[in-house]
Amino acid sequence: MHSIHGHENDALIIGRFQPLHNGHLEVIRKVSAECDHVIIGIGSAQSSHTSENPFTAGERYLMMSETLKDEGIDNAMIVPVEDLNRYSVWVSHVESICPPFSIIYSNNLGTRRLFTEAGYEVRHAPLYNRRDHSGTEVRRRMANGGDWRSLVPEPVAKVIDAIDGVGRIRSMGDFDGGI
Ligand code: ATP
Ligand code: MG
Repeated sequence: MHSIHGHENDALIIGRFQPLHNGHLEVIRKVSAECDHVIIGIGSAQSSHTSENPFTAGERYLMMSETLKDEGIDNAMIVPVEDLNRYSVWVSHVESICPPFSIIYSNNLGTRRLFTEAGYEVRHAPLYNRRDHSGTEVRRRMANGGDWRSLVPEPVAKVIDAIDGVGRIRSMGDFDGGI
């Protein structure tokens, strides 16, 4: 049912992008070259201002759109996707807010399982230099004064500077007791 004619070579990539880093960008480059259209789902869109999810969906959207522009990638669409916490309807939820697609790139076992059951072609996203290139490592370096800039595309660093992202991450403990 999902395979609307003409979308056989359109793919979805989903991540939280907290923040978008060079490992994500390598996958986006590869998929945008291989596929007709790439839909980039910004996961946990409702979350921000936590140590795991410091940036809002809007801020992450801007990091992504500025990077795509910088890269000259013009066949990507960005869709913020909120969590549902009800796995049986997760695929329908994603389908209801994204343009049609037939392929999904993910290494997450739960995501792979759900989209396989729904009849999608599920592909592995190749990992690029995963030891350093993870959102967790970028946030860790932002918190402890390490070199996080070398792990993210330049437009991402510009957005983070403009919103004082480092200051936000360092103040994350301030939210722990509630507002
Ligand atoms: P976090 O550490 O915050 O979980 P993350 O780096 O795992 O961040 P996510 O925003 O959770 O990134 O997005 C997960 C998606 O990004 C997965 O599909 C994963 O395979 C892909 N991904 C993450 N790191 C890399 C990398 N270094 N190279 C290629 N793909 C990556
Ligand atoms: Mg992750």
